Amino acid sequence: MKLPGTARFSTVCLHAGQEPDPSTGAIITPIFQTSTYVQEELGKHKGYEYARTQNPTRAALEGNLAAIEGGAAAFAFASGLAAINAITSMLKSGDHVIVSDNVYGGTFRLFDKVLTRYQLSFSYVDTGDLDATARAFTPATKMLFVETPSNPVMRITDLAKAADLAHAHDARLVVDNTFASPVIQQPIAFGADLVTHSTTKYLNGHSDSIGGVVVATRDEDVEWLRFYQNAAGAILSPFDSFLVLRGTKTLPLRMAQHCATGLALAQFLEAQPKVRKVYYPGLASHPQHDLAARQMKGFGGMLSFDLGSRDAAATLLKSVRLLALAESLGGVESLISHPATMTHASVPVEHRNALGITDGLVRISAGLEDLDDLKDDLTQALALV
Ligand SMILES: *Cc1c(COP(=O)(O)O)cnc(C)c1O
Repeated sequence: MKLPGTARFSTVCLHAGQEPDPSTGAIITPIFQTSTYVQEELGKHKGYEYARTQNPTRAALEGNLAAIEGGAAAFAFASGLAAINAITSMLKSGDHVIVSDNVYGGTFRLFDKVLTRYQLSFSYVDTGDLDATARAFTPATKMLFVETPSNPVMRITDLAKAADLAHAHDARLVVDNTFASPVIQQPIAFGADLVTHSTTKYLNGHSDSIGGVVVATRDEDVEWLRFYQNAAGAILSPFDSFLVLRGTKTLPLRMAQHCATGLALAQFLEAQPKVRKVYYPGLASHPQHDLAARQMKGFGGMLSFDLGSRDAAATLLKSVRLLALAESLGGVESLISHPATMTHASVPVEHRNALGITDGLVRISAGLEDLDDLKDDLTQALALV
């Protein structure tokens, strides 16, 4: 089916990138589990030669994700970190990157422990503070790498201003949009040059696949990423491509519920006497609530709250029954975690404390369970704190 140019967002999520299978009419793009393709004669084939280079299931997903984020093309990788690594392949030794200071821990580890070995340098700044960000630029800066909302304290970066700042310095704005999802935030509309996701999270949404994607806007980046994806080879498998493609069909519906439950839990927790502070951009008490409301169409399913001590956090985490103690986010089931010892354990303790990632901080990824069941679970666990 040809999608009309006027197709709206949920229609794009459902249909973009996909045609009924030409050989059978199957409405769902099959899992093309093959390593190679038979050629008719020398130099004559159907556009597919070898499955690292081209795979129809992956191509359908890439078309779908490019349309959802409003980019020119997308490239799917074996994990979110493989996708971020692909972006950094655009850099050359001597280049400098400015990074949001409470960026995903694995991103920090890749930059700090691997890429600094190749004469790349990284400055970590609060990109929510535009003056501090502006001061971090040097003549060698080639990228501004932003996560907004940030993990786990939900700092918001003004995307339009960040894009202006990057472009004024001839640098690219890269946005890791994993936390928000394209349903509630579309960085390319604000001027981002590259958008990346861990598809492991909301895009797949069912906690059963690891993957990543880069969405590019500039022709030269599209050309490089296509070359690099094949040259380095960390492609997303056909089965995982199928799973993520299935996930994006229900993405708008799922996100609507994740946002509703996220807001309701944030409000519920804010009213609990044992909770010292709640971090959620949808709360009026969030210091950047107005900015979040301007650039996001919802506030997401991620929230954090501070119980004041490691003991209090440990008791809560041990006592919840429905919320599952686990890393990761964005799946249908609610997860609860302890950033200081789980996702952010590799961040030095002084740095963690400066960011607000205290030992009492607990993070929730609101799933799709009944809201009252989640509240009941937190109520009984908080009673034991
Ligand atoms: C999970 C995550 C990643 C890394 O993705 P993987 O699929 O685990 O490699 C990157 N950025 C953010 C914001 C994430 O939450």
